[in-house]
Order: sequence, then C-alpha cells, then structure tokens
Amino acid sequence: MVATSELVNYCNDLLDVGQFTDFAPNGLQVEGTATVRRIVSGVTASQALVDAAIELEADAILVHHGYFWKGEDPRVVGMKMRRLKSLLCADINLIGYHLPLDAHPELGNNAQLGAELGWDVSQIAGQGGAAGLMFTAQLPQAVTGRELALHIEDCLGRRPTHVGEDEDEIETVAWCTGGAQGFIQQALDLGVDAYLSGEISEPTTHIARESGIHYYAAGHHATERYGAAALGRHLAERFDLEHHFIDVDNPA
Ligand SMILES: [Zn+2]
Repeated sequence: MVATSELVNYCNDLLDVGQFTDFAPNGLQVEGTATVRRIVSGVTASQALVDAAIELEADAILVHHGYFWKGEDPRVVGMKMRRLKSLLCADINLIGYHLPLDAHPELGNNAQLGAELGWDVSQIAGQGGAAGLMFTAQLPQAVTGRELALHIEDCLGRRPTHVGEDEDEIETVAWCTGGAQGFIQQALDLGVDAYLSGEISEPTTHIARESGIHYYAAGHHATERYGAAALGRHLAERFDLEHHFIDVDNPA
C-alpha cells in the first residue's frame, strides 16, 4: 500500500512532467482514496474502464487519455458527469499522463511500441511539438513494404493502412504513437524509409506518395496500449501493489 500523494509524486518525477507543455493536466486529475493498493491501467478513462475499475475495487486508475482537455466544454454534464460521478462515488483516484507517457525512453508508449515490434531504438528525435516523441530504428534486416505491414499486423493484432509500394525495400523506420500523422514531415527530415503513427489523414497519403516515404497507420488505440500498462507494472513492483491492465477494445 502507498499513499496516493507519494505515488503521484513518484510518477511526476519519473516521467519528468515539468518538461512538457501538454493539452491536459498530467498527474492526479480526480482525487479519490488517500492510499492505493490496487491499480487499474488502460489507454482511456472511458466509462467502460471506470466501470471495470469499480468492479475490481481499484483505488486508482492510470491512463494515457484522461480528462479536462484544452478547449473541451468545461461543464460537468452528460458523459463527463457520468464518468466523474462514477469515480467520485467509488472514491477512485484518476491519474493521467499524456505526452510524458509517450516520451519516456523506457516505459513510454513509443519505447514500448518499439519493443513490441522488435525494434531497437537508434535515435529519439523530433522538433517543436514532437520534441522527444519521434523514435527511429534500423530494422534488424531489410524488408519489403508488404512484409513490414504483415509484421505490424502480427505484432499488434490489427491490419495497418499502408501507403507505399509493396515491393520497395525498407531499412529504417520512424514512429510516433497516437494521432501523430502530422509529424510525417519530421520523419521525412530524418531521412527514414518508413513512418508509422496511429492515425492517417487525407493529406498524409499525398505527402507519403509524393515524397516517397512509406506510411503506416497502425491505430491510435493499438499503438498506445503499452505505456500505461508498462507504468502500471513498474509501479506494482516498486510499491508492491496489485495491477490490472484492462484493454477496452477500440477499432480506431
Ligand atoms: Zn493518444
């Protein structure tokens, strides 16, 4: 068992939250019980995840996508009211880490996705809003565009959208989990053969085709399933807690 304040302070230090300008508050977002012995981790603090945490009698929920996003309607009505009511009535702490959990070089979404795909990180790069979020690797061996798509599908259990020639050879990749299709220009600047992110937009296709970089959209949820789980496992070990990762399926 650990005091909630100690747990949150530990995470804030570990993930270096002060370094980030983010779109949502990082750390404790909704205060619950003063001590934690059981954590549920997940990608997004949806009602389904909150309900699963209540069912498990968890003391804290740890997520990548929490609440109170910049620009959202601040009123506590509808979906937001129901989620908050569920949390507050059950006295469950909601702890969220957005960009700090993408960027952490070991427990973060990008590092964990690379590990899942069997890629050794050769560089952590990026500029502007992508600083520290763009990871690159030299593939263990050159593969074709089609083979890389199949490898991603095998590892993530979800077929990626691939823009590029099936028979082209790929030796170097860059990736950024989540949306991140807008960072394709940074990937081009790095000179890699392929770029992988979660989501594709209409212009992404044209940029990829006209600049010759392969692009893979592997799913926002699918690429961000690993950071919160890794942090949860780490905390369980560090503070002797019970931890359950709950994957609420999401086709996006
Ligand atoms: Zn995300």
